[in-house]
Amino acid sequence: MSQAATMKFLSVVWLASVSGALIRVGRDGKASYEGYKVYRVNTNDRTNELSSAFEGLSVVELNHNGGTVDIAIPPEHLEPFDTLNFTTTVLSDNLGADIAAEGPLGSYPELDENGVPSISWFDSYHAYEDHIQYWSDLQASFPDNSELIQVGPSFEGRQIQGIHLWGSSGKDSKPAIFFNGNVHAREWITSKVVEYLLYQIVIGYKNDTTVQAALDNYDFYVLPVVNPDGFVYSQTTNRLWRKNRQTRDNTTAVGTDINRNWSVGFGGGGSSSNPDSETFSGYQPGDAPETAALMAYAQTLASDKGIKLYIDWHSYAQVILLSYGYSCDTFPPNYDRQVSLAGETAARIAQPYNTTFEYGSGCLVLYQSSGNGRDYMTDAAGAEFGWGIELRSTPYGFVLPADQILPSGIEIWEGMKYLWANL
Ligand SMILES: [Zn+2]
Repeated sequence: MSQAATMKFLSVVWLASVSGALIRVGRDGKASYEGYKVYRVNTNDRTNELSSAFEGLSVVELNHNGGTVDIAIPPEHLEPFDTLNFTTTVLSDNLGADIAAEGPLGSYPELDENGVPSISWFDSYHAYEDHIQYWSDLQASFPDNSELIQVGPSFEGRQIQGIHLWGSSGKDSKPAIFFNGNVHAREWITSKVVEYLLYQIVIGYKNDTTVQAALDNYDFYVLPVVNPDGFVYSQTTNRLWRKNRQTRDNTTAVGTDINRNWSVGFGGGGSSSNPDSETFSGYQPGDAPETAALMAYAQTLASDKGIKLYIDWHSYAQVILLSYGYSCDTFPPNYDRQVSLAGETAARIAQPYNTTFEYGSGCLVLYQSSGNGRDYMTDAAGAEFGWGIELRSTPYGFVLPADQILPSGIEIWEGMKYLWANL
């Protein structure tokens, strides 16, 4: 039976959701993960049986990493899952409780005497409208060295936007450092950490010589939320939504994985041509409006002063991903240099809280992914360093408690200060 037909005959309301599993809708109108248990499943010897083993179970696939996959199982399927006898670690006894513990969305913070929003912005997660206000206020407090930028509309017509910052040589005079946050909707920590970097640049440029050197050497182009439709949906309807909200002809499935829709390596391993899939690539490179806008913007930066560093921000594997994702046996010419830089960056990230980040070619250190942004930046936009960084954290997964926003920002800031000074 198709998903649409199934939904028609059920008396409760369900969302066809993550990984095609049906999720019950709670009293608040949002997808309810009450009683879902989260497991890390060791798949090393049993990868081939995985999809057939999970058939008939509402398995919500969260993330996979080498020989393991993290999944959430609804209460009614815990028993049949147990009988499969996988080697597992329990990451959470109740995903619904984790989501509740993440806390309510925060209210907008006060501005200080310079117009900079209070650091309490990083004490909670916020609604998308508040993020737009935050970028606007931050930019307004730094008027001589920044401007708001818009790169194009999402599928539902929201502008993908952010901030361009520059140093003493003036606007558009240096190579680009280009950051994309929240390409995957549920990875809320990514926009917060990218905003923490922005915040530190804005307040640090006055008297911190490391920040001054970074901003005097590079033009920063920072888009904290490049998947606004998915981000809004993850706040209003389903916390674990990943893709954009694009509909297509001849399918009820919603959403394209923006990070599989880029033209380099398009359609290869680690992406899917099935619209139901969490890694649906779309049918053509750039047929998701968000990717099309980002590719066009990258080309503008490439043909202007060039792209020195691109970072696509994700969660939650704690790893620095270098090109390539589409192939495990092809490497950029400067790969050795990238590995040593990533290793030093990871060492700096570990300093404040001992958070360990692995590093290496994305395909080798995480998994194969084709049509991703960092490979595009490396091969099609001339970026010297086309990276992805997966933030905290296990064991919390995507639902990172709000009191970890600030520590996550602080450790990444340490890594970035080193990286920008040593590119
Ligand atoms: Zn991601």
